[in-house]
Amino acid sequence: AAMMAVTSPHLSALVLLAIPFVVIPLVVFGRRVKQRSRLAQDRLADASAYATEAIGAVRTLQALTGEDAAAGRFSRSVMTAFEAARDAMQARAWLTGVAIFFVFASIVAVLWMGAWNVLTGTMTAGALGQFVLYSVLAAGALGELSQVWSEVSLAAGAAGRLGELLAEKSDITAPGAPVRLPEPARGEIAFRDVSFAYPGAPERTILDGVDFSVRPGRTVAIVGPSGAGKSTLFHLALRFYDPTAGRVELDGVALPAADPTDLRRRVAIVPQDVTIFAGSVRDNIRIGRPGASDAEVEDAATAANADAFIRALPAGYETEVGERGVTLSGGQRQRVAIARAILEDAPVLLLDEATSALDAESEIAVQAALERLTHGRTTLVIAHRLATVLKADRILVLDHGKIVEDGDHATLVKAGGLYARLARLQFEQGARALESDPEEGFDEVEAGETAGGKAAE
Ligand code: ATP
Repeated sequence: AAMMAVTSPHLSALVLLAIPFVVIPLVVFGRRVKQRSRLAQDRLADASAYATEAIGAVRTLQALTGEDAAAGRFSRSVMTAFEAARDAMQARAWLTGVAIFFVFASIVAVLWMGAWNVLTGTMTAGALGQFVLYSVLAAGALGELSQVWSEVSLAAGAAGRLGELLAEKSDITAPGAPVRLPEPARGEIAFRDVSFAYPGAPERTILDGVDFSVRPGRTVAIVGPSGAGKSTLFHLALRFYDPTAGRVELDGVALPAADPTDLRRRVAIVPQDVTIFAGSVRDNIRIGRPGASDAEVEDAATAANADAFIRALPAGYETEVGERGVTLSGGQRQRVAIARAILEDAPVLLLDEATSALDAESEIAVQAALERLTHGRTTLVIAHRLATVLKADRILVLDHGKIVEDGDHATLVKAGGLYARLARLQFEQGARALESDPEEGFDEVEAGETAGGKAAE
């Protein structure tokens, strides 16, 4: 560029005039490329999310003969992603094309002016040749720059999305100066006048003035119709959410004042649907306490009545399980979850009793393991079995997010309220009660969904 200016200031000024024609399209089309590339990225993410979901639930899809519908929906989302990608490419092609056109158009203009100057004798042919050589080099560099710019715009579109994800802040954060939970842990959990609505549906109150506390080492059974808010209590105890009013306390410390990691170390959960991660059985149990030794993992598995079945697997504890390995049965998965919780050795245990019936042998193995696990720990259990409520020190009956009854089995049955009805239907003479008094079905207590399973029990 400097040599151009030295050789012919006059023609260089002409080139300067051409620069806005090159730069303006770069900026305008660059923005478009960025937008479209972002859109293409989003559509591609949609298509892969759908594929992952469908492949994960392939048995459900097959059982419902939904393969064609799923394949159709997947091809539509892939087509949308393809079209979005094509749009992005098109915008990029325009950017490069327009830039190159203006660059070469200006060369032509300069050449034309130069030739004119040579003809009129104000410039030598040699100087023109020199100028043209410099301007071809400069134009090549500018053309290259437009390519780079379009690539940068493309990448910026994609990176913007990642940046947003990275900048996302959790509502649940550790306070600047977290209060340390008392040592040694007592395992006392308390809900103080807790009300809660999920952030996605703030107008729907899920828990309404729930107030109770559990003394260390006690077992409290939570029963109530489907949708009453039982699992929500667990979400709050683990501080996945903060209550909208009131507070949850562990060992006398309000949860938001403590570090969530500390808190969660003191609370173990055995969920109904156990997640098995891809990896060995050993790794799956070790999730409970990543630093645990092999012997500790095996001891936990033994206490969870899982050792025998694990040793019978093709490679024992090293057997790969999960998506690409051996699939574990429902009862086996539950025992893996119990082993995790035993290893975690937390003073508070949240237990969501499985509703699905296990075969008698697994059932006995799982129950025995649970008994060992709950011993000496504060346990909140979402109960589905008569044996569990009978063993509990206290039963809380939850209905529409409120505790409507509180006591032991005998007292609550005598009181003749919701618990008595639920107990009659769920735990004792379920099938008979439904036959003799169809009016008093589960619909009345809004637990229709699981009535069959529970009644059979
Ligand atoms: P079940 O026995 O059927 O598992 P539950 O008593 O455990 O029921 P919860 O899972 O606590 O019930 O759900 C209580 C209510 O909260 C339900 O009406 C449910 O639709 C709603 N709910 C659960 N999770 C969310 C969420 N993430 N966002 C909005 N609403 C939710």
